[in-house]
Amino acid sequence: MKKKILVTGGAGFVGSHLCERLLNDNHEVICVDNFFTGDKKNIIHLLNNPYFELIRHDVTMPYFIESDEIYNLACPASPIHYQFDAIQTVKTSVMGAINVLGLAKRTKAKVLQASTSEVYGNPIVHPQQETYWGNVNPIGIRSCYDEGKRCAETLFMDYHRMNQVKTKIIRIFNTYGPRMHPNDGRVVSNFIIQALRNHEITVYGDGSQTRSFQYVDDLIEGMICFMNTDDSFIGPVNIGNPGEFTILELAEKIIQLTGSSSRIVFNPLPQDDPLQRKPDITLAKTKLSWTPQVQLEEGLLKTIAYFKSIYF
Ligand code: NAD
Ligand code: UDP
Repeated sequence: MKKKILVTGGAGFVGSHLCERLLNDNHEVICVDNFFTGDKKNIIHLLNNPYFELIRHDVTMPYFIESDEIYNLACPASPIHYQFDAIQTVKTSVMGAINVLGLAKRTKAKVLQASTSEVYGNPIVHPQQETYWGNVNPIGIRSCYDEGKRCAETLFMDYHRMNQVKTKIIRIFNTYGPRMHPNDGRVVSNFIIQALRNHEITVYGDGSQTRSFQYVDDLIEGMICFMNTDDSFIGPVNIGNPGEFTILELAEKIIQLTGSSSRIVFNPLPQDDPLQRKPDITLAKTKLSWTPQVQLEEGLLKTIAYFKSIYF
């Protein structure tokens, strides 16, 4: 059945892949974005599709759009961008959630919140299960993002409990792939661009901190599987690739895959940078029959090919 689907933040990295996939699945897509970190280039190939609509709008302001389903992705995701205007980041998460939930309440749309592994903060429990409440600094430089996303989760649960809004919360772990913003400072894009230029690879700290990297296609599949589950399954559910790597291992792998002559340098570790992160995906496997398909090397090769084709 053709559905009308609203994607906030649809011109961003993840959002553009989601819009593309939903159109390919024969749905009608409305993309709302204020282009803070998104780019028209990410969706330019969709603009001629009569079932695609683009609306420039800031989600902190109310809006009214009829739809069957909403994916709420609007929010800068990289530390450089979400710290650029921390107050706007909080507003985007919190007022953005209130506006989208009010809309879902009125239109009876099902709404999925793109939450994050950052709600676990610097986790003491490893790997992270959805039942873990996290270890988050409420007053640090990452708090605008972490606490904004935590408050959004609270709002999603309360609108569900009080107003029977059909909500779903997904906790996304580090995702990479084509259309990542080249200047947003995230580790995969930074390292690939540095390696392709044969520049120094900037590892923060001693590089022993870990992350689990998920290729964007796996995330999109997980999001859609989750949206299509029964309304009674509201999550939160982790979506990520449990393969865990140190940042130093990632740097070495990218140097090897690009054939770069870059050398690794060590810079200070930013404040509150989580030391370890790895999703427990038992819930996603059980409830969504979903597992990630793309392993790190394969995903990195596709991402390297993208950056090469765009910038080199
Ligand atoms: P992104 O920055 O590429 O995309 C975010 C999009 O939201 C951009 O197009 C931006 O212009 C738009 N936006 C920001 N503020 C807005 C506002 N006030 N009104 C309207 N649009 C606004 O980031 P992404 O990596 O594509 O992330 C998408 C979502 O997934 C975010 O909510 C992010 O928190 C979540 N997430 C991403 C990751 C990841 O690794 N990429 C991990 C965890 C969670
Ligand atoms: N990082 C790094 N060099 C960089 C960019 C990031 O060593 O040029 C580290 C960063 O300190 C963190 C990890 O890589 O430990 C992942 O950073 P990213 O900003 O991609 O994601 P997040 O910290 O939000 O998981």
